[in-house]
Amino acid sequence: MKGEKPLYKSSRFERQLPLIGSEGQKKLENSTVLIAGAGGLGSPAATYLALAGVGEIIIVDDDNIQESNLNRQFLHSAASVGRRKAYSAESTLHELAPDASIIAHPIRIDRTSARQLVRDADIVIDALDNYETRFILHDSAWAVGIPYIHGAIEGFSGQLTSIIPGKSPCLSCLIPGTPPGGKIPVIGATAGVIGSMQAMEVIKFLTGTGTMITGRLLIWDGLSGRSEYLKIGRRKNCHFCSDHGE
Ligand SMILES: [Zn+2]
Repeated sequence: MKGEKPLYKSSRFERQLPLIGSEGQKKLENSTVLIAGAGGLGSPAATYLALAGVGEIIIVDDDNIQESNLNRQFLHSAASVGRRKAYSAESTLHELAPDASIIAHPIRIDRTSARQLVRDADIVIDALDNYETRFILHDSAWAVGIPYIHGAIEGFSGQLTSIIPGKSPCLSCLIPGTPPGGKIPVIGATAGVIGSMQAMEVIKFLTGTGTMITGRLLIWDGLSGRSEYLKIGRRKNCHFCSDHGE
């Protein structure tokens, strides 16, 4: 959490204050969002949250920028190839939103680091590209009872759900095994849609506005322009829920 500052009165936010009020704006300012991944999903998610006035953003990524990232990862520029993504994201976000506190961690997410990272956050964005790490981070967020905003993309389509411990099914209920990883083709705009929706989920949660996409999975198909929601139930034999008293 950041110290008090009457930022919410700034004209920077005058177009959103009618929507979330000064109370909502203050809540954003006093919140900490953990964004795991400074790539395709992390770029729009972190950008819109920093611009919205979120007080503190913790951004975690242990990768270096490659040229092949640049069709979608707009936190980074051609001049940043080879640099750590976490630091490049920190510089860009600082330029866009100088009042936000950006904390960059160029570290790998494992059981130990995940536990420490979620401790300081109010909410977590899963902007990762592999399910092994997603489960590690999800389990840590669940353990401390904070929401985990899952997003994933492939090609022209993507999915999203907000997992709220105690209120919604867990990630293992939704995805019982670990899907295969590897390099998947993707159009940058797909990441833009899903990453922006992740930012929207965080803004709704922190300001208490609207209805979260929880207990249902949004499947968005950019090629056909169709969206659908699949109801997600708690799986009876979910190894995670049953071990965690749900
Ligand atoms: Zn479960």
